[in-house]
Amino acid sequence: MAANLILAKIGTFILDIIFPIQCLSCSKEGEWICKECFKKIELLKKQACPICGNESKGGARCFNCRNKSELDGVISAAAYWKPAAAGAKETKNGLVKEAIHVFKYRFVKDLSKPLAELMREQLKNRQIFRKEKPIPFGPDIENDKIVIPVPLHPKRLRWRGFNQAELLAKNLAKRLDLPLENSVLARTKNNIPQVEIKDRKERMENIKGAFDCAESPKLKNKIVILVDDVCTTAGTLSECAKALKNSGAREVWGAVVARG
Ligand SMILES: [Zn+2]
Ligand SMILES: [Zn+2]
Repeated sequence: MAANLILAKIGTFILDIIFPIQCLSCSKEGEWICKECFKKIELLKKQACPICGNESKGGARCFNCRNKSELDGVISAAAYWKPAAAGAKETKNGLVKEAIHVFKYRFVKDLSKPLAELMREQLKNRQIFRKEKPIPFGPDIENDKIVIPVPLHPKRLRWRGFNQAELLAKNLAKRLDLPLENSVLARTKNNIPQVEIKDRKERMENIKGAFDCAESPKLKNKIVILVDDVCTTAGTLSECAKALKNSGAREVWGAVVARG
């Protein structure tokens, strides 16, 4: 571990001792997101094709992008960032952005609960659209759905101490009453974090072949709900989807807290 990272971790630890838990939005003590502020978070109303970003029903990959990704769609709970009106300081979902940041980089595991709750709120009334029969997300009446988190590379997991996607997936699976599976999909390439790369093509190259999936009866014919915190170019989710489908999954749907 690089010395500056160790210092950052110690700094975070000290900060957390000195400052009590308080709402990231209104500073009320006791919770990271208080009930009043949680209620004010707006869910994303219109979902988009994860590849081209055009509006699409239920977040499904659009017809034009059908050959560009194995990902069937992505459902996002909230918008990560909204451009502020001229002169305005805060973006509308500033709290979501802040919460994800504190969850990931200040290692506040407790935030996985309200963030997973946002995902559940978004997913509970949503369906995978089929002409013959729309399929609701959870609970798993037909026994054909499974929740899988985007894995971290073991080296990165050791550094972080926890996989943020896995915590979200655990909380979401519990709330949707769906089984969680975190042993079949693995990250075999310790690539540079996607967030550090701006160019779309370079991002795709960086993440290529990063995941490996064991052939497993657990995946056979399943609809996978693939959980991550944020989806930007969908490169990571697409690579996971490719590996999961190669190993028998029928469909792969991303579920994220926010679109980047
Ligand atoms: Zn509050
Ligand atoms: Zn598209």
